[in-house]
Amino acid sequence: MSTTISEAAANATISYNVSFPEAQAHYADIEMHITGLKQNTLELKMPVWTPGSYLVREFAKNIELFSAEANGKAIASPKINKNTWQIVTKGISAVTVKYRVYAFELSVRTSFVDASHGFLSTTGIFVYPANMLHSPANIHITPYKNWDKVSTSLEMVNNDPFTRHSPNFDILFDSPIEVGNQDVFGFDASGVHYEVCMYGGGNYDKEKLSADLHKIVDQEVAVFGENPNKHYVFIVHNRQRNGGGLEHLSSTVLGASRDNYANDKGYQSFLSLAAHEHFHLWNVKRLRPIVLGPFDYDTENYTTNLWIAEGFTEYYQGIVVRRTQLFPVENYFDALESEFNTLENLPGRNVQTVAESSFDAWIKAYRPNENSNNTTISYYNKGAIIGMMLDLEIINDSKGKYKLDDAMKYMYTQYYKTLKRGYTDAEFKAGFEKFAGKKLDDFYAKYINGLTPVDYNKYLGYAGYKIVDELADKNDATLGITTGTTASKKIIVTSVQRGTAGYIDGINVNDEITAIDGTPATDAANLIAGKNPGDKIQVTVTRDGQAIILPVTLLKSTRVKYNIVSVDSPSEQQLAVRKKWLSL
Ligand SMILES: [Zn+2]
Repeated sequence: MSTTISEAAANATISYNVSFPEAQAHYADIEMHITGLKQNTLELKMPVWTPGSYLVREFAKNIELFSAEANGKAIASPKINKNTWQIVTKGISAVTVKYRVYAFELSVRTSFVDASHGFLSTTGIFVYPANMLHSPANIHITPYKNWDKVSTSLEMVNNDPFTRHSPNFDILFDSPIEVGNQDVFGFDASGVHYEVCMYGGGNYDKEKLSADLHKIVDQEVAVFGENPNKHYVFIVHNRQRNGGGLEHLSSTVLGASRDNYANDKGYQSFLSLAAHEHFHLWNVKRLRPIVLGPFDYDTENYTTNLWIAEGFTEYYQGIVVRRTQLFPVENYFDALESEFNTLENLPGRNVQTVAESSFDAWIKAYRPNENSNNTTISYYNKGAIIGMMLDLEIINDSKGKYKLDDAMKYMYTQYYKTLKRGYTDAEFKAGFEKFAGKKLDDFYAKYINGLTPVDYNKYLGYAGYKIVDELADKNDATLGITTGTTASKKIIVTSVQRGTAGYIDGINVNDEITAIDGTPATDAANLIAGKNPGDKIQVTVTRDGQAIILPVTLLKSTRVKYNIVSVDSPSEQQLAVRKKWLSL
């Protein structure tokens, strides 16, 4: 079978037409034509996940009215598993397939169609012929009503913006398509044409935004030494409240809040998101863990390296924006402190290593539950802190000759450009060691594969900084629970933090807290106002319709709030590391 398929693939021509006759009801209608077939059966598959978002999303669930025809007659196209249709093509050289996709999931990794625009997250739109991922395809877009623009990194065919070409399916599945009346502007940077496509309006200043994105692009190109694209597209979905982003080879999709561009904090957070997703065009899209490409679109693709692919990208989003000098260094410290405090206030830091967090992204990070904070950490969060630690380690050990950038550039050149493959865990470790000038076995054992608490003062100390806990002198009592309030003002427990009074004395998620020491509980934020650590109280809860009185001994809050401050008299060496690290 594989011989006939590769022969067929060499000759097969694939094209799609996407139209939106019922855009208002959230449908995209797909017509696929395959000619030049020379095989007995044809299997058409839809990916179950979209690269960059590590969750099986079963995109085939949105497909309706799948049908096939050949020579003007309907032919059978039964489903043989959740995401595969099979067509008998013996003696048939051309097949037309039609189906509809319901697209009403608002996110950067799923498709959404309404009367105002169509966003095609291609993994959930296009079925592909099994074993023909390397085949090229043309995509024609028939817009709805007055939609007049298509924004995507796919190249035009015959200068027609509505007809695009994809050299293979890996590229098609990494090239989202925006169709509608988006506001499009652009700039040129490092020999690449950048297009910014704004859906949904917003209070952005085109000139300023273009100039600032240009600065970010320049800083990121400087890390890797080249910009591998010719054309890059920022697709931005502006909504009342929106966020998040997804990286692609030559484009990205960003969520933004439309009124957030005019305030400093909102604007900085948008630029950080853009810096993050754009940094991915190297880190993960090209410089990648070995299992992340070529992708298996049928199942989970497991890696322990998302702390590099995502965590370092999070570290760089901050340091790159710092390097543009658009905001003061204090803003950068705010972001770093927030990374520290997130990790240090999470009981999961004593349970899950960053390598495990990455491997289990599919079943844990992307499927959180009420106990997640007790049992997991984020590879974004701890990975960003590890990025900082290694950056400072390399700067310090090399006496300012190198920084993390040098390791990233070396790995990109060596694995993406020269060897044309992904890296293994051991290979990235060797890359760091080359620039740190020493073995990192101990570092890996402690921080990547172990649960050793981060020694902030050691690493920040290289640059003459230390952390100070703002809450160190506090003696606040806490129950260690979070609650939500229902429409009827019931106070319901939503999580219980490991090691706290609530955890030890048996308060449960979903308990309704009705009284403290016999007094009705009405103010969720002040359940234990006036109480101290060591006080014994009675918490009345309703659990499964029954009242239960729980004796609880209050404990001191272990919450920390770290601030980064300079040591008293930093040495010359510390000041040199500081300058190199923060681009002061
Ligand atoms: Zn990312």
